[in-house]
Amino acid sequence: MVHYLFNSIANAGVMVANNIDRDRSSVLFLDRDGIIIKDVGHISKKSDVELVPGIDQLLQRSRDAGMLTVVVTNQSSLARGIISLTEYIEITNHMIDLLGNSMLDMIIASFYHPAFSQSHCNSSWRKPGSGMFLYALGIFNLEVDKCMMIGDRSTDIIAAEGIGIKNNYLLNTSEYPNEINGVEITSRCHLSPARIVNSLDLVLFDHE
Ligand SMILES: [Mg+2]
Repeated sequence: MVHYLFNSIANAGVMVANNIDRDRSSVLFLDRDGIIIKDVGHISKKSDVELVPGIDQLLQRSRDAGMLTVVVTNQSSLARGIISLTEYIEITNHMIDLLGNSMLDMIIASFYHPAFSQSHCNSSWRKPGSGMFLYALGIFNLEVDKCMMIGDRSTDIIAAEGIGIKNNYLLNTSEYPNEINGVEITSRCHLSPARIVNSLDLVLFDHE
């Protein structure tokens, strides 16, 4: 049975599984809303949590590819006072349970928002800043070239590119139809184009 420990950090929170295989040198980074669970705006209760179709198979395939799975999510609803830290942890635990407990190694959340947070500590953790990715780099012995990011907004891709991740996917969702243009423009300016896919089963891992 996997257990998760919650660490409170200024303007952020990190949930860590107790069975992480630290020998793994690559991470599949994932946005939360729109990639793991459906994006329904500011989620305030467990009953709002619904998995995105195909996410469980995707996480299993990343496990088979030898990758760690790390969620990197902006959750300014805490700074906005929409949910409490206790409610955030309940929602996160419910998401973990829906996925079958052992599919995520770490869930990093930035609660920061420039208009609502009282302190600017760790403000770079909010995407498009790369602070959450840098935190993971500090914990694991990662080879950035082997890491991947899946998001549904251009800010997800920019944040991943900030630490040199070149293998990026943008899931085309009905919530953010204009993000494709944003990613195409920003990718042309950065490292390599993000691959745009219409479903999670089109994300490919190295050995596939
Ligand atoms: Mg999203």
